[in-house]
Amino acid sequence: MNPEFRTARGGTLVLGGGFAGAYVARGLGRQGATIVNPANFMLYTPLLPEAAAGSIEPRHVTVPLRAMCPHADLLLGAAVALEPDRKIVHVSSEAGAFTVGYERLVIALGSITSTPAVPGLREHALGLKDIGDAIRLRNHVLRQLELADADPPSAARRLTFVFAGAGFAGVEAVAELQELTEGALRRHPRLAGVQPRWVLVDHGPRILGQVPESLARFAARTLSRRGVEILSSTALVSIDGAGVTLSDGRRIETETVVWTAGVSANPVAAQLGLPLDARGRVPVDEHFRVEGLEGVHALGDIAAVPNAASGELDPPTCQHALRQARRLSRNLRGRVKPYAFKSLGSMATLGRRHGIATVGAVRLRGILGWSAARGYHLLALPFYARRARVLADWTVAAFFRRDVAELTP
Ligand SMILES: Cc1cc2nc3c(=O)[nH]c(=O)nc-3n(C[C@H](O)[C@H](O)[C@H](O)COP(=O)(O)OP(=O)(O)OC[C@H]3O[C@@H](n4cnc5c(N)ncnc54)[C@H](O)[C@@H]3O)c2cc1C
Repeated sequence: MNPEFRTARGGTLVLGGGFAGAYVARGLGRQGATIVNPANFMLYTPLLPEAAAGSIEPRHVTVPLRAMCPHADLLLGAAVALEPDRKIVHVSSEAGAFTVGYERLVIALGSITSTPAVPGLREHALGLKDIGDAIRLRNHVLRQLELADADPPSAARRLTFVFAGAGFAGVEAVAELQELTEGALRRHPRLAGVQPRWVLVDHGPRILGQVPESLARFAARTLSRRGVEILSSTALVSIDGAGVTLSDGRRIETETVVWTAGVSANPVAAQLGLPLDARGRVPVDEHFRVEGLEGVHALGDIAAVPNAASGELDPPTCQHALRQARRLSRNLRGRVKPYAFKSLGSMATLGRRHGIATVGAVRLRGILGWSAARGYHLLALPFYARRARVLADWTVAAFFRRDVAELTP
């Protein structure tokens, strides 16, 4: 039987409903588009570490695509094959396979966390890429506290937490979860005097390689004061059910390894037969056009996008994905210009009332950096209702202890 055939609304088919795809479809407005995405929401990833620690309700860091892109047609599923000559994309979905015909195709399929050939990585490490990961991580950490309480001799191993990757996700997650655990421990008198061990490992020479060195040093000092051991220029060489081995030969006994080290373009680009650069990204020109494929555009983490303002390829961040999406949607509406965007800066929160931010030439740290980061996210989140929910979560968290209910079914 032939799979069902559909035609993209307004002629534009957007593959991926993350930052880049959702904002392209939103920017097309009444012109319309069809989005193919496995879930019916866009994930606001910068707040994922806070969702993992329970400072924000996980549902509040998602944005329903049907509300965000009211003129778009949303089809749940995953793109599995592309026939550029026939201008159709094959989609696999729970409801059965179908194909979608397009005039213009936008590839916005994002990235995956890099998983190098470290023995035991796939079997034993937790990730922090999607909402399921955030919920799993929080439950896992709280479960370790309960198990340590029930079996105090295992406390040293169970309350050792190893994070690999000291980029934004790893640094924010270790800071948030350290605070969650510190608060939760007050309710475990049997574990009085037990000091959890937090280890942040990165093969680079310093944490937060993307931010100016003075701010990264501030972040490292803040984490160290809270007892986080930072092991730079160090790699995890193997992971097993009882611990990890580091590149300097050290062994750390632990039940928890969180892997946030590195991003790679979504390998589905190869499956779709798209041209790839040496890092697996889809190369595009300054108008997001994929060479040799008529009507095909790519942007966001999956693409190597030249930025006329920086003279470099854009890094994989939502700030850049969002600006690229705004430019591409205008181009698709006929107001064609090459892409150029000057970065607004970068920011990270380090738990309650601590953070760092660069805004133009200004560098903020401590409570100023934290306020700037929170203020930015509040403005960047789509919809007043989502902002209000996140603000309410933050307000409750400021006055009450964190909720330590573990929701493992
Ligand atoms: C934990 C974490 C924290 C982060 N923090 C920050 C931050 O503070 N600041 C910042 O600027 N950036 C941050 N980032 C990076 C930022 O999330 C990405 O750069 C941004 O999401 C890229 O947008 P994108 O649309 O290219 O990819 P995504 O937002 O990942 O969207 C890709 C979409 O494609 C979908 N998809 C995948 N395969 C298929 C398929 N076969 N068919 C259809 N759809 C598919 C995915 O489900 C997803 O919805 C963070 C990332 C993570 C994981």
